[in-house]
Amino acid sequence: MAYKISEDEHKSCLECGGSLYGRPDKKFCSNGCKNRFHNRRYNDERKIIERTLNALYRNHEYLNCLLKAGIQSIDIDVAKMSGFRPESITGYRKTRSRHSECSCFDIRYCITEQKIFRIRKMEIGSYSETDSGSGSAR
Ligand SMILES: [Zn+2]
Repeated sequence: MAYKISEDEHKSCLECGGSLYGRPDKKFCSNGCKNRFHNRRYNDERKIIERTLNALYRNHEYLNCLLKAGIQSIDIDVAKMSGFRPESITGYRKTRSRHSECSCFDIRYCITEQKIFRIRKMEIGSYSETDSGSGSAR
């Protein structure tokens, strides 16, 4: 074991707070409490993941719409009003031109406080680390 729980902790059940008897490393008063505790934690995790994935899907859909309309840059506030969430990204890096570049699955874009720009779709096979579109930052 990498760590040891001190004997002062976990004297009450992590789920119901009831007193614990028996082994000093016991955390739950019963299997029922143990299951409830882990199920809830699992469900909370699932919810966080689902919320994040949904935001990413929405972002992707939005960026896709922009690209289809031939739009490669947009005011960040306008994007936010359409439900775009700048904090939800699948990747991030600084480009050679020192822009903050985010990715949303296969779509990449640069971002500042004011706008997102250089929105573009990655071609299949160009997911490497090489900066494909260097130079033309406007
Ligand atoms: Zn309990």
